[in-house]
Amino acid sequence: MTDYEHQKMNKKMEKRGNFILWVGLFLVVVAIVFLIIGFTSSITYAIIGAFALVIGTTAAIYGLQQKKKGKGTNIGIVTVKCRKCGYLERAGAEFCSKCGEAM
Ligand SMILES: [Zn+2]
Repeated sequence: MTDYEHQKMNKKMEKRGNFILWVGLFLVVVAIVFLIIGFTSSITYAIIGAFALVIGTTAAIYGLQQKKKGKGTNIGIVTVKCRKCGYLERAGAEFCSKCGEAM
């Protein structure tokens, strides 16, 4: 797998993490609403709210971890574009690993 593909995958991971994080946070908000309704009227709503709170918090934490993972590995890979063939070579390389042109 090339660095470029690696970077693209990390970007995807970061995006997915962000999405999961927002879904999780949304669930937490819904859960709080359910909990408030539950405590004032029916206990069933409170139970649903408690479940949603647990799932939402777990999703948010998982999303945050994925986001960090994607971002964290991104920093380590800095690429430079080859002048000749356009291949994205790891920064600091002397020659392009695809065409052999001096970087
Ligand atoms: Zn090249």
